[in-house]
Amino acid sequence: MTPLPVEESAPLDGGFAEKLLQWYGLEGRDLPWRNTRDPFRIWISEIMLQQTGVETVIPYYEKFLARFPDIVSLANADIDEVIALWAGLGYYSRARNLHAAAVMVKNRFEGSLPKNLDDLMSLPGIGRSTAGAILAIAFDQKTPILDGNVRRILCRIFAVEEDPRRPVIEKKLWQWADDLTSEKRPHDYSQAIMDLGATLCTPRHPACDRCPVAACCRARQLGKAAELPVRKQKKTLPQRREVVLLLSQRGRLLVRKRPYGGMLGGLWEFPSLIREGKENSAEVAAKLLAALDAEGTLEKWGKSRHTYSHFHLESEVFFAEVKTRSQRIRESNQTWLPSSEIAALAVHGAHKKVFRLLQEKTAKNGFLQK
Ligand code: SF4
Repeated sequence: MTPLPVEESAPLDGGFAEKLLQWYGLEGRDLPWRNTRDPFRIWISEIMLQQTGVETVIPYYEKFLARFPDIVSLANADIDEVIALWAGLGYYSRARNLHAAAVMVKNRFEGSLPKNLDDLMSLPGIGRSTAGAILAIAFDQKTPILDGNVRRILCRIFAVEEDPRRPVIEKKLWQWADDLTSEKRPHDYSQAIMDLGATLCTPRHPACDRCPVAACCRARQLGKAAELPVRKQKKTLPQRREVVLLLSQRGRLLVRKRPYGGMLGGLWEFPSLIREGKENSAEVAAKLLAALDAEGTLEKWGKSRHTYSHFHLESEVFFAEVKTRSQRIRESNQTWLPSSEIAALAVHGAHKKVFRLLQEKTAKNGFLQK
């Protein structure tokens, strides 16, 4: 049996949403953001759930809302505090966008999230699917969502054997998402389909034998459920190398904040410099030390590795006890902090690993207690 070409796939009969909703009534997950219709809380949960799993999100969600219970409190907050509360959740542009969007909502929409797609999508960090989820869950409007879970489910239900990122397929997926969304219960439907993707129709091992919509699923009929959607070939990521300096002075370490607007903007790190071409790491470390107007004997301490979405980063770590504080350091966005305070900062992932290396190296001599 060959799958239907996408263009010829007939719309499903009316049973999909009903079957899904019936299952959701029995098996739906009890999550903290399910006990509210507050658009602000639903918005926060949707943003946190982008690229992050439910179990990780729950404590962050609760801590975030304890500090920022509404849009105005978030809009009035210092961005550094927002980023600090986000520390560890990753993809920090989400935190920066949330804050910027809260300021816009306060100024343009009198502190209330707008109730229509265009205005919601005009806010930083809110794309079509997130806007659809907010409108459906908070306002019970029939608006489709097409996040990763829904995309996977639809590719299987309709046995899409083409790359779902192709614009023509993407358009079709949106149309199907709209066709299938319940007219009567969009609030429940949106959460039900997210639950189906998170618990049964999972990426590698879909539990088709327990699936409430198995009878509608063409991929299952074809025995191709686990093969779809078509996966893109993994690219080989380029490798970047940097030198990182752990400069210590009277038990304090030099750290700096990355400028807002760029990659990892607003996060903290240790001084570092990218190694170009065949540059020797010791020479690069010495160059960076000189650029900081600092003097000390550099010791090579080891390496750590971190992978970002578009490159691998190898950090070669040097330590030096520095005797003088330079004027240049005092005037920049750099500061000396004890390691106990660095542990509480929003340090980006690569340098968290560098910090762990420091903890391992120095725990024995009591340096970290200072
Ligand atoms: S039958 Fe299997 S592949 Fe189809 S929607 Fe259900 S879990 Fe997913």
